[in-house]
Amino acid sequence: MRKPFVAGNWKENTDSRSSVELAKAVATGSAGLAKEKVTVAVIPPFVYLQSVVQAIRSSGIAVGGQDVYFEPKGAFTGEISPAMLKDVGCNYVLCGHSERRHVLCESDEMVGKKVTAALSGGLMPILCVGELLDERDGGRTEQVVARHMKTGLAGLSADKMSAVTIAYEPVWAIGTGRTATPQQAQEVHGFIRKLLAEMYNAKLAQETQILYGGSVKADNAKELMAQEDVDGLLVGGASLKADEFVRIIQAAV
Ligand code: PEP
Repeated sequence: MRKPFVAGNWKENTDSRSSVELAKAVATGSAGLAKEKVTVAVIPPFVYLQSVVQAIRSSGIAVGGQDVYFEPKGAFTGEISPAMLKDVGCNYVLCGHSERRHVLCESDEMVGKKVTAALSGGLMPILCVGELLDERDGGRTEQVVARHMKTGLAGLSADKMSAVTIAYEPVWAIGTGRTATPQQAQEVHGFIRKLLAEMYNAKLAQETQILYGGSVKADNAKELMAQEDVDGLLVGGASLKADEFVRIIQAAV
């Protein structure tokens, strides 16, 4: 049985006070659910990681970074290493979020190096994959998702994969209010699971958690979670409102 997993990506939002308030409100609202029934993670901006970790220390909610660099240290101005994220209490890290790929021009190869570096640094990467609108309209969804999967997981052995979560996030559904239908999500999640069986083995494919992300709200979470291969949700905008995010967590159980 795959345990449900709900993660909130705060992106470039909140400030020192509101980040702590939001984290505490999520912790209060999800008490009794987080950890036992559902894995919950919040993913604040780097500068608020430490105070958020402190604020929800005993809540069972995990904390993640929005990105990581693949070099362990050195002259890489502005970058953050896996060890730094670990040091401030992160367990998870997003790798290859579509905004990093398409706004900040990260290559597929760079995403793969980040996944490998995150694992070596003791973090659990959430590898984001997903197609642009013209790629979907051109019938290239599976081709793009397969490329993201193969380059993102390049060189990773099956034993390392137990720490990796996949997030399918169709780019046309992120921040647009246009959610993939549950059937569209299921189709691609099923494809990803089949691909994992080919790349690794059937057991690993069955055990890997695959999250859906893209305009998830409290009122569509249940329907998405009802799909056989949707194991959890990666939530952007709706994770900034504690009440709504808590309702999404409740819907995922
Ligand atoms: C995301 O940031 O990963 C995301 C899915 O955003 P939103 O829920 O706002 O579409």
